[in-house]
Amino acid sequence: MTCIRCQHHSCKKFGYFGKRRIQRWRCTSCQSTFCEPHDRLTRDTMLAKPDVAARAIQCLLEGCSIRSTERLTGLNRNTIMRLLLLAGQRSEKVMHEKMRQLPCRRIQCDEIWGFLMKKQKQVRKDDPADFGDQWIFVALDAETKLIPSYLVGKRSSANTQAFMLDLYHRLGDHRVQLTTDAYIFYRKAVEESFAGDADFAQLTKLYGDYGQFGNERYSPGTITEVISKVRSGNPDPKHISTSFVERQNLTLRMQLRRFTRLTNAYSKKLSHLKAAAALHFAYYNFCRVHASLRVTPAMEAGIADHIWRLEELVAVPEPQTRLLA
Ligand SMILES: [Zn+2]
Repeated sequence: MTCIRCQHHSCKKFGYFGKRRIQRWRCTSCQSTFCEPHDRLTRDTMLAKPDVAARAIQCLLEGCSIRSTERLTGLNRNTIMRLLLLAGQRSEKVMHEKMRQLPCRRIQCDEIWGFLMKKQKQVRKDDPADFGDQWIFVALDAETKLIPSYLVGKRSSANTQAFMLDLYHRLGDHRVQLTTDAYIFYRKAVEESFAGDADFAQLTKLYGDYGQFGNERYSPGTITEVISKVRSGNPDPKHISTSFVERQNLTLRMQLRRFTRLTNAYSKKLSHLKAAAALHFAYYNFCRVHASLRVTPAMEAGIADHIWRLEELVAVPEPQTRLLA
């Protein structure tokens, strides 16, 4: 080791610096001490060894809570939260860049209910605006099982319109068939985004609540009646359905801990909820082999040529290369 001050060549080891145990040296000639060259920590640094970081993210993707991930990986919960945010940002970027000119032809839309901090009936007037009900709007292609677009937010006309417009811009120039549930704002949103360029039908399912009105109900009510209404164009009656997207919603509820109902799991920060949703959908599209397709939805839709590994998606550096990227 060469001294950084006097360029003298005889230096002796002088302990370690920090948790990463970076070697320190002392010059025998001028007595100055210094660290070995090392990577600096930045906001984007994964604060864990790459393999442990990947394992933590995998845990979160398989429905572990933050605390159980803490116990399984030995990482601190604050580190896990930061990993989730980073992974979420990168997933969001991947989704945004890859979901372009999609060949999807039969889109089903639905919303999944969740809440931030507290359920809507507990929200007080002086609480922050995003407390209470939060919804994830999801669009799914029935053929490729791809999720071209999603949106996290309150169930409002503005959000429904933003969601539909985003979906519209991600699809190719062909005509699509669209099925949504009977939620009132879809009609206007579809009209404004697709401008009659879609065969659009709405399904009214008459059944109980989602559990958001209290804890008396432990299962969703049985569907008593399904009414379909054609809103524009000429949709094929065979494909007026929201079954696939509803199945996806079950997957999400099983795999995002914060969406398991009737437990004490819930979100405390909108940013983390959004990150968890982005990670879930990107992982679903690019990494997870769909049981009936035998490839990933992204491969089926022709926007990926292989099954992505989690490390590729969230850009966790390869194990064994460097301790910190
Ligand atoms: Zn020196």
